This record gives sequence, structure tokens and C-alpha cells, in this order.
Amino acid sequence: MFNVILFGPPGSGKGTQAARLVDQYGLLHISTGDLFRAEMGNNTPLGRQAKDYIEKGELVPDEVTVGMLENRIDEFPNVPGYLLDGFPRTVAQAEALVGLLRARDQEVGALIALDVEEQELISRLLLRGQSSGRSDDQDESIIRNRLSVYRQETEPVYNFFNARGQAFTVNGMGSVEEIFSRLSRQVDTLKK
Ligand code: UDP
Ligand code: MG
Repeated sequence: MFNVILFGPPGSGKGTQAARLVDQYGLLHISTGDLFRAEMGNNTPLGRQAKDYIEKGELVPDEVTVGMLENRIDEFPNVPGYLLDGFPRTVAQAEALVGLLRARDQEVGALIALDVEEQELISRLLLRGQSSGRSDDQDESIIRNRLSVYRQETEPVYNFFNARGQAFTVNGMGSVEEIFSRLSRQVDTLKK
């Protein structure tokens, strides 16, 4: 198993690149944001729990998110690996992830961060908001809140894996194809 965390701020291109990476490497794509949106779309108890946080650009509480991730992993135990997109978002989630993988005789292979300039993030998100229908992409103050939550709560996750020698950064500016080729070169190096 090769489990990869695709990391980076909102708008850094995780979802777009994750779709290509799972095609290339046969991994299972797990996007906690997509899972929450599906739950919200079906108006499940979990979706109702997550909705208020998401609409404000806050994080859903760790135990809710970790429980949902764990269920997803156990639904698909026999895959070549997981590609985690948008998770972990806090150091507590990172610790939980390491523990739950270890309990299944697995581990995180690497964290790969997409590095994108702040102004570019905001314009990509506003552009996405015009077509995605996502209310959290349509309001610049909510976007700024998500970026600030990212800097304060999520960025330390990079240091957590960096301290274990497992964090790598890829330039996330440029065309989708250019960025994909940087990412796949990084993954190829890691898998060797
Ligand atoms: N979210 C969360 N925990 C997660 C994933 C998503 O709390 O593990 C919430 C959070 O409110 C976030 C929103 O869902 O702003 C959208 O997440 P997604 O990953 O889709 O956004 P992205 O960062 O990719 O724009
Ligand atoms: Mg996303």
C-alpha cells in the first residue's frame, strides 16, 4: 500500500490533481470535503452536523471528520493505497490518521504539498464559485476565513510530517498538465 496525502490551501488544485493521480496510480481518492458535500446533499444527520461549519468556512470537529474517514477506509480495505485530499486538516487529525493506519498495519507514505500564491488562490476560488454552486466559494470573506483557518490550523500538519521526513512540496503554479507532471515525478521518486 502506498498512502499519499495531497496537501495545500483551498484552491491549490488538490481535487483536480487528485483525479489525475488516482488514474495514474490506481489509488482510492478520499476527499473529506466531497464526502461532506454528499452527506449534505442527502440531508443525512452527518450532513446536517457539518453544514453550519462548512458554510462559515470553519472546520468540522475532528471526531466527526475522523470517524467519517475511518468508515471510508474500512469500506475499501483492498486498494493499492489511499489518496487523501483535504485531510488531515489539523495536527490532531494527523495523529489520529497515523494511529488508525497503524491499527490496520498501514502507514502514511508521504505528504505532498501544492505551493500556490495567495492572490492566485483567491481568484481560482472565486472563479470556481461561479460554476460550482458552492456557497463557500462565492463570498470573498468566507474564502479569506478558510485561508486563515488553513494558515493557523492546517499548515502545522506539514511540519508534523516534515519532522518525520515525509513532507514534500511541489510548485502548484502553472498549467494543470505541468503541475501533474511535477506531482507524478515526485510520486515516482517516492515509490522507488
Ligand atoms: N471540511 C472540514 N474538514 C475536512 C474537509 C472539509 O471541515 O476534512 C470543511 C471545511 O469547512 C472546508 C469545507 O469543508 O472549508 C470544504 O472542504 P474542501 O476540502 O472541499 O475545500 P477545498 O479546501 O478543497 O477548497
Ligand atoms: Mg477540494
